[in-house]
This record gives sequence, C-alpha cells and structure tokens, in this order.
Amino acid sequence: MRAQPKASHFINGEYVEDTAGRVIECIYPATGEVVARLHAATPAVVERALAAARVAQADWAARKPVERGRILQRAAAIMRERNHALSVLETLDTGKPLQETLVADATSGAEALEFYGGMIASVTGDYIPLGGDFAYTMREALGVCVGIGAWNYPTQIACWKGAPALACGNAMIFKPSETTPLCALQVAEILHEAGLPAGLYNVVQGYGDVGAALISDARVDKVSLTGSVPTGQKVAALAAGGMKHVTMELGGKSPLIVFDDADIEAAIGGAMLGNFYSAGQVCSNGTRVYVQAGIKQKFLARLAERTAAMIMGDPMDEAVNFGPMVSAAQQAKVMDYIAIGKGEGARLVAGGTAPKLPGFEAGCFIAPTVFADVTDTMRIAREEIFGPVMCVLDFEDEAEVIARANDTEFGLSAGVFTADLTRAHRVIGQLEAGTCWINAYNLAPVEMPFGGSKMSGVGRENARAAIEHYSQVKSVYVGMGGVDAPW
Ligand code: NAD
Repeated sequence: MRAQPKASHFINGEYVEDTAGRVIECIYPATGEVVARLHAATPAVVERALAAARVAQADWAARKPVERGRILQRAAAIMRERNHALSVLETLDTGKPLQETLVADATSGAEALEFYGGMIASVTGDYIPLGGDFAYTMREALGVCVGIGAWNYPTQIACWKGAPALACGNAMIFKPSETTPLCALQVAEILHEAGLPAGLYNVVQGYGDVGAALISDARVDKVSLTGSVPTGQKVAALAAGGMKHVTMELGGKSPLIVFDDADIEAAIGGAMLGNFYSAGQVCSNGTRVYVQAGIKQKFLARLAERTAAMIMGDPMDEAVNFGPMVSAAQQAKVMDYIAIGKGEGARLVAGGTAPKLPGFEAGCFIAPTVFADVTDTMRIAREEIFGPVMCVLDFEDEAEVIARANDTEFGLSAGVFTADLTRAHRVIGQLEAGTCWINAYNLAPVEMPFGGSKMSGVGRENARAAIEHYSQVKSVYVGMGGVDAPW
C-alpha cells in the first residue's frame, strides 16, 4: 500500500519539497510497511511558511466574517464527500480501524469547519454606556498561529485548530506529528480547493526542532499544542519568551467512577470506550476506573466477557473494531507498563499480550488489557500509559472516591456513572477536571468546550470557548464631549 503525497509540505497554496530535510518514514502500524517517505522542513521551508502566512493574514482578517465562514463550510462539504478516502488515509497514518475512522475523523474535522464557518459571523463586541461617552469592544485576529499535532487524531487535530483560527481571521502553520504526517496535507488541499487564499493554511513537516523553530519566530502570535505534558512545558516556555498566546491540550490519567446503582452495561460500555477506542490512544481516556465494592465482581466478570468479544485484526476490514498501536515504540512503551503492572501486584483480568496476528506479524498489536485490584500508588494508576490498559480500582464511599480521583497532577477529564442524578452533579462539581461526563464517556462534540485543568492544559478547544483563544479583545473609548484636563 502506498500513500505517498505529492510533496512533504503545503505552503502558500502549493506542495513544496526540500529533500535536504531529515527523512520521515510513514509506517502503516498494522503491517510495518513504509507507505510514504517525507522530509522534515529545512530552515528555508520554515521561512517560506512564515513569510507566506504573514503576508496572507492581513487581507484575510479584513474580509467579512461571513465570507470566511463560507469557505470553511465549503471545505467541510468536500471533506464529507471524500470521507471514505480520507478515512483510509487516516487508517494508514494511524492504524486505527476503518470502522472507527469512517465515523470519527474526517467527519469530526468537517463538523469543526461547519461549526466555526456558521458561527463566526455572530461573534460581535460589546457596547458599554458611560453616561454620554461610551466604549465598545471588538474581537480581532491574533495574526499567525502555529498548530502542533499529536499522532492519535491527525485529521481532527488539524481541523480543531485550523477551523477556529481561520474563522477568526488568522493564518495557520500546522506541524503534524512526525509519526502521522499524511492527513493534514489533505486538510490543506481541501481548504484551498474550497477557496481559501494561498498562505493561510500551511503544513510544515518535522520533528520537535521544527515545532520549536516555528514557535520561536517573532512573526508568530500564538501556539496551540496537542501533545504530552513534558512537550507542553517546553512549548509554553518558548512561547512565554515572546509573550505569545498558548493553548495546551495535554495528557491525562482520568478517573471514571462507577457507583453501585449505575446501569452496569452502560458503565462497562463507557469504561471500554474510555480505554479501548483508538487502541487506548486518547488523551481523555478514563484509565482509572473506580468501581464501588458491591458491584466489583459482577462488573469485572461482564467486562472480561465483553472484552473477549472485541475483534482485533486487519484495520481495513470494517468488521474489525480494535487495531494496533500507532508505532513499535508506543507498543514497547505500553508493554513495559503491562510488565510494571504485573510486577506491582495488579491482577490481570484480560489481555496483557502483544499477539502476532496471521498476515500482520509485524503489526504493533496489544490485546485489550484489564488490571483489577489496582491501588492508588501503583505506577500504572499514576502515569499516562496511552494504550489499551484499563486499571480497575475499588472504592467504598463517595467522599473517599472524590479525594482519590483528585489525587493526581492531571486534570483533563472525569466521568461518573450512577442512577442518582443528584449525586452525579454533586460528584462532578467536586472533580478537578476540565471535561466531564455523566452516564457517558469520551464524547467530544464540537459544540462542547474541550480541554484540561492542572497539568493537562491551558485554554479550551471547540465551541464558542475556542474563539476566545484565537482572537483578542480591543477596547475603544469614545469621547463625546470636550476633554476635561487639570492643566
Ligand atoms: P508529543 O508531546 O511527543 O508530541 C506532540 C507534538 O509536539 C509532535 O508534533 C512533536 O513533534 C512536537 N514536539 C515535540 N517536542 C517539541 C518541542 N520541543 N517544540 C515544539 N514541538 C515539539 O506527544 P505525542 O506522543 O505525539 O502524543 C501523545 C500525547 O498527546 C499524550 O500525552 C496525549 O495525552 C496527548 N494528547 C492530548 C490531547 C488533548 O486534547 N488533550 C489529544 C491527543 C493527545
């Protein structure tokens, strides 16, 4: 299978290559096959992107918001028409099963383009009466925004950052993860096909050094990163040097609390979605599943049964609902954590192996894994694993579980399953997390703000909230009479 793009980068409305850049091999994780070879950006490529974005941005910001929105909506329609091809590419890039990518990736990107395309014309300022004099405010574009992506949702991340940035009148330079460089190029192509002027959405490939070079440039006004906490700390520090705006969508170790009155099938479904979707490579996963003692045995028995029925295999087969890890490196990291969990005394209830599937012997598969009898101090309960490893912990009462759930440096997400809605709201109100669910898990519609607190991040993506992170307020005082000066 080949997925070689026309060139590595997309700058100023066209594909650009510079073979002097370090090679990036794009490996299909199900087979280990190299499906494309790209090159990281050289300083000349980075310069070209920065110059193009800077030049294009002012005219774009001066356009009527409804015109900008129309282009985004047209791009969304093209993405929907090409959903199948884009989903196949997403599967090649990430290894996620086609069953998933057909409904979760280009479609989610299209929703972001539709949402911001439709709402941007309604973003207005305030009129502030001051007794004769008055003031008003307006929201202005920031300028050039840099987006840096993780590898788990390459199309979605490219759109979640690109759509609000462009809607607000900014230019975007997007650097995909070096592990999944392909999908963002399609997003750029489609935006330009929809009428986006050249220079406004550029894709520049590279490793961390290319990201750092972009952020450090004085022409850049904002950076939005999706990545790990250690990378977030580096990126935020670099941005602080130039007092640039930041959005940080980082890692997590989120609690999912199941009370004994919960609909147990729904709770198990939520826990499975929150640990096994995308082979567990989702930042908001509820990887610490706290189950109230009275239902523990029943919960674990049914969870093991449902986990055994999952279909792992060829990601291109639409009957398959569980694919490989994104890379051999990620597979090795997750297998290390499984060994750590066993060594710490956690009880393996399901999975724990890296199977060699017939025809996919070189694939980075890990069987969906469940550990029971996990305690709060174990490393598997404290550190982000970013793979299909569910930790089940027991608890007795509400106050205890809230304290334990909050005892983490992370604060991305949290979930509660219970039939008692008063308790659900009371518990959610006390959990330290930016994105929460009651009797659901991991749904992230574009209409709802998404993001983390504590070490999991700064700022919010999606919904109206993201507009505040891609624009800034200008206040204007208007004097209607003379100036009363004491001199
Ligand atoms: P990562 O931190 O290794 O890399 C993220 C991106 O940052 C990559 O594009 C990488 O090239 C770039 N980068 C690395 N060093 C850099 C530097 N010094 N300067 C600028 N850019 C640099 O993360 P990953 O392994 O690609 O993704 C997994 C992590 O992302 C997990 O921790 C996961 O929780 C997190 N994540 C968070 C969200 C969210 O929305 N909160 C979503 C998906 C993934």
